[in-house]
Amino acid sequence: MAKKFACGDIMSGCGWSATAKDEGELFQKIGEHAKNAHNIISIPDEIIKKVRSKIQDV
Ligand SMILES: [Zn+2]
Repeated sequence: MAKKFACGDIMSGCGWSATAKDEGELFQKIGEHAKNAHNIISIPDEIIKKVRSKIQDV
């Protein structure tokens, strides 16, 4: 099952979203986006937990 994440769920105002074939690939995309769009070089554990709770099966 593919996974989907919408950044706006945790970063209000951000319209970015991504889908990937599994959670590992999705987190790779999220990592790149966090760096490019939000200047977050390494994602803190609490954010990862939040992201995880918002990931949807698609
Ligand atoms: Zn974002």
